[in-house]
Amino acid sequence: MIDGFKIIDVHVHPFPTASVGTGAQFGRLAVGLTGTVEELLPLMGETGIDRGVLLGATPVGDMVEAAWSKLGFEGDLCDEDEECQAINAEIVSRVRRRNAWVCAVAREYSVFVPFVSVDPRMGVESMIVEAEAKRTEGARGIKLHPAAQRFPPGDRRMWPVYTWAEENDIPVVFHTGWYYATGQQPEYSEPKRFADLLRDFPRLRVVLAHAGGGYWDQAIELAQAFSQVHFDTSVAFTASPAYRQPLSDDEVIALIRAFGAHRLLFGSEYPWLHPIREATRITSLPIADVDKRLILAENAQRVYGLD
Ligand SMILES: [Zn+2]
Repeated sequence: MIDGFKIIDVHVHPFPTASVGTGAQFGRLAVGLTGTVEELLPLMGETGIDRGVLLGATPVGDMVEAAWSKLGFEGDLCDEDEECQAINAEIVSRVRRRNAWVCAVAREYSVFVPFVSVDPRMGVESMIVEAEAKRTEGARGIKLHPAAQRFPPGDRRMWPVYTWAEENDIPVVFHTGWYYATGQQPEYSEPKRFADLLRDFPRLRVVLAHAGGGYWDQAIELAQAFSQVHFDTSVAFTASPAYRQPLSDDEVIALIRAFGAHRLLFGSEYPWLHPIREATRITSLPIADVDKRLILAENAQRVYGLD
């Protein structure tokens, strides 16, 4: 509890060691946090974040392209080459290892809810096999990053995964909006690109992270057109200039009204941002308590089926 509010943080990136978490932040800790479970648990316990949704995402496209460019390959040309194929296979195997680790962490600590990832480079059947296998290990959702994984949201290779998720009632979270890592393709994360998928999968529980990440009008348009889509507040409503210049209270309140409080799930983007400071941003907004309760926990409970 923070200020008497139950809190579920739906956007947490855990790392197995402080050095991996520091490396993911390009060596400079944004708010002094490294991302280990040992760091996060007491932080949640002391200050009252009840649950954390662990997003086990791997920036496969970024990693593959970095490895390819060392060999002098570019883009799809690499697909013909054995050495490149081997690189792809190694990086895809990291997705599986990371998924297994996130599930193991959540089995050990029941405050955590594990979401895993798949990648089109696995091939369609292997993506389903991986998703199904991790579901039996406790995974409750899927996290995808179209920009960092280099596939457009309308990529039909992913349709069987969404069919599987819809049939099994598994929510899918997508990164949307801002993306500044190397090899960026920000157009893959523009909210308007998700319209096809939302149209074809009306019962799929879709959450768009960062509430559109700067593309507010596109995201609000989706909210109005598709009732099954929800949005997380991570980075979008940040309290901290360490990572992104915060919107003013008035701007945040205008966005909450435009989306509807019942469509927004609180997320922190730990360790890039501080979960307590981010949660306090919401608790301290001059909005009705009933809306704060929706954003801070009740929407996550409903959309993700959490207690
Ligand atoms: Zn994130």
